[in-house]
Amino acid sequence: CFCQLKGAIDDCSCSVETIDSFNNWKVYPRLNSLLQQVFFRYWKVNLNKKCPFWEEDGRCAIRFCSVQPCTDQEDFSSSEDSEILHTSPINFSRLIQNFVEGAKTCEKVPEGLKGKAGALDINKPQKRPRPTDGEDCDEENDLGYLNTTLSKESIDGFERWAAHDNFCFLDDDDSEDSKYVDLLLNPERYTGYTGPSAHRIWRTIYQENCFKPSMSLGPYADFSNIGDLCLEKRAFYRAVSGLHSSINIHLCARYLLSDKSGFDLSSEGIWGHNVEEFQRRFDPQLTGGEGPKRLKNLYFLYLLELRALAKAAPYLETLEYYTGNEEEDKDVKMAVKDLLSVVKSFPEHFNEHSMFNGGLQAAKLKEEFREHFRNISRIMDCVGCDKCRLWGKLQITGLGTALKILFSGNFDHPIDQQLNLSVTKPQHSRVGELPAGESEIMKGRMPEEELIL
Ligand code: FAD
Repeated sequence: CFCQLKGAIDDCSCSVETIDSFNNWKVYPRLNSLLQQVFFRYWKVNLNKKCPFWEEDGRCAIRFCSVQPCTDQEDFSSSEDSEILHTSPINFSRLIQNFVEGAKTCEKVPEGLKGKAGALDINKPQKRPRPTDGEDCDEENDLGYLNTTLSKESIDGFERWAAHDNFCFLDDDDSEDSKYVDLLLNPERYTGYTGPSAHRIWRTIYQENCFKPSMSLGPYADFSNIGDLCLEKRAFYRAVSGLHSSINIHLCARYLLSDKSGFDLSSEGIWGHNVEEFQRRFDPQLTGGEGPKRLKNLYFLYLLELRALAKAAPYLETLEYYTGNEEEDKDVKMAVKDLLSVVKSFPEHFNEHSMFNGGLQAAKLKEEFREHFRNISRIMDCVGCDKCRLWGKLQITGLGTALKILFSGNFDHPIDQQLNLSVTKPQHSRVGELPAGESEIMKGRMPEEELIL
């Protein structure tokens, strides 16, 4: 093997070997089966937001970049719709497009997923009306809420907190442009997106939004030696670089090996591993030694997200994962619990408490860290390939949520306490570290809590 990775992961007390065996045997099979479930399969996203940083250089017309959103119609390949299929030009063109992409149409998105009784979201406040104390509510409304053992104050506290301190900008779910996408029908894989547009995104992320080593303050920072950055800045770079590695590994693993489709619209080519492409990107000989470091950054990112899952586990275990299919929802809830118990059993978690300790400076740094990451989330709206934009947004939202769980302080306490505290608890960890009037949550803080924290 030209690129066998071994040994310690920098800035973590863990090795590649430990993570490999834990992931391959315990996490991956469970996660993979969960990802096939309806609850995790659909994601609502706005792929039409304007790039806030520059005039877009045109969305690329590469055929593997297109994304097929779900419509409210049933999967027309399955049912009585065949009549409409032949008569409606819109449906007919959708059918052709699906043949071209080799994708099937999305099945109807279950009503249960569409917000009315959806689960609480760590990044968003609830919009639907909530039952008040003593008021009867129908079962369907109840199902989406946190486990009823939590008090109303706790849930209110959570909802208020959820609206603040985000590490990423989120799409407005109510916008007409936000559409459900079936992730199984639009897998992350090679799209052909490359060249100046892709490079501008990566360059903007690294040069303008990562913390640069001091010896490379010019327009093109050199990240080959990040040793003189502090832990927090190194962690930021490693997480971003790990995400970049993940994207590039996916495109190598699901590469278009042969485009045999030609004029046969029903064929979509042959997909599989492209070892040469992987080698070009990660072989130490071909990358001046950078390849293995970039792969290790993916392990770093894995540990960071694993720790966030473990930390939020008490909360995640209380959710109902509601889609409307009682049997399936029960199974998903059990499968999530099972996954979380495995995640919690991991012995060498990333230690978030080693970061952002050090008075006012640390508080400032945390704020900068959050702002830089929020900026990266906006850059995702500049990605010129829809499929890449979809997966970029999804993964940045996931990482931003993990950062929020790790660094907002609200998951540092047992669940009921943490939800109550979140109404008043300051975001930063020491007396005197708070930039004045920063958020609603911080405005309401109590002096005793500052002392404890
Ligand atoms: P790039 O990957 O574009 O990298 C640019 C430069 O960054 C490299 O020259 C190197 O110096 C440095 N670099 C590379 N990897 C790392 C790393 N891990 N850490 C630190 N520095 C690094 N393409 C697809 O086929 N499918 C996708 O789903 C897809 N999704 C994308 C999502 C986003 C958000 C973006 C920005 C791009 C996406 N791409 C996708 C494009 C893909 O990431 C590459 O940009 C493209 O394949 C061109 O690769 P490249 O070899 O020119 O180097």
